[in-house]
Amino acid sequence: MRHRVTLIPGDGIGPEVAEAARLVVDATGVAIDWDIQIAGAQALEREGTPLPDRVLEAVRRSRTAIKGPITTPVGTGFRSVNVALRQELDLFAAIRPARRYAGLPTRHPSVDLVTIRENTEDLYRGIEFERGAPDTARLREVVFDIAGYRIAEDAGVTVKPISITGTRRVVRAGLDFARRNGRRLVTVGHKANIMPFSDGVFLATAMEVAEEFPEVEVRDMHIDEMAMWLALEPETLDVLLLPNLYGDIVSDISAGLVGGLGVAPGANLGWEYAVFEPVHGSAPDIAGRGVADPIAMILTAAMMLRHLAETDAADRVEAAVSRLLEEGRTLTPDLGGFAGTMDVAGAVANLAG
Ligand code: ATP
Repeated sequence: MRHRVTLIPGDGIGPEVAEAARLVVDATGVAIDWDIQIAGAQALEREGTPLPDRVLEAVRRSRTAIKGPITTPVGTGFRSVNVALRQELDLFAAIRPARRYAGLPTRHPSVDLVTIRENTEDLYRGIEFERGAPDTARLREVVFDIAGYRIAEDAGVTVKPISITGTRRVVRAGLDFARRNGRRLVTVGHKANIMPFSDGVFLATAMEVAEEFPEVEVRDMHIDEMAMWLALEPETLDVLLLPNLYGDIVSDISAGLVGGLGVAPGANLGWEYAVFEPVHGSAPDIAGRGVADPIAMILTAAMMLRHLAETDAADRVEAAVSRLLEEGRTLTPDLGGFAGTMDVAGAVANLAG
């Protein structure tokens, strides 16, 4: 069966790792019609916006997309394309696995974590009040009227909404993921003792939905305690279910535990669309030099193949990455090697083909 997939190369190292991932996917023999769509800095320059409507329309047509990182243009008034895509397509759950591969030097011998991050609410919703702006002055008055709290005149404010509906769907998606993948334990991270009306909603809703999944053990943990266990004994944790901001931070910590951002894949899922993207950003410091590690993007492509029900191809790609890392001969500089992006891609493609 042929699949149509929208490919958004992205900025910085994005086009390099996207080309690498495409080479590997094509080598598996899975027939894909790649629909390439430019977004980010180039789109901003040519079309006046980093996320033209045509990109959203393309993803809506294909339903499945894979994208490289996109830089958030600072000072142009545009919000993050990554966040905008998640919100426009209602990609409410981010799934970010972090598994230790033999051959990579890491502090902990057996880490196998999956962070499931709520993607649309929380402090990342984008409800921002700028320091000194007239709206912020109004907000200060309202907060004083209804809560008796005086927000400092020189404060900027970000609002943190967390709803039952927003939480319920990510918890269902997360617990369903755990059940389908034979995961034993889901830990809900929060700070409901300090933020009872936002994190409290997340916690209560998660525990309520957990009753629909008796086969999965669900526990809760304060996010600061989770940070401690991640540093001390990450092997005691399994699936981590988190609101947006904590999920962002914890997925980077998890990536660090298994060898860094160069090997951390990710997926953004909604009911209708799926956009696959690595955890890492556009890494402008190494862009254009052909040394970016493509493994994260290649593992992201494997997640995409699994989503397209191309299980055998996904297994082959993951096994090829595993072998390449274990052999340790063809690695990019972030993993202590001297190989270039396309050397790694070529080696994985040979093993997976
Ligand atoms: P963003 O704001 O877009 O998330 P960031 O500046 O927080 O980006 P990243 O771009 O994700 O961070 O990366 C941080 C650093 O990690 C990079 O500057 C780069 O040195 C390294 N890095 C990230 N991804 C890779 C990769 N695929 N290969 C090699 N090094 C990488």
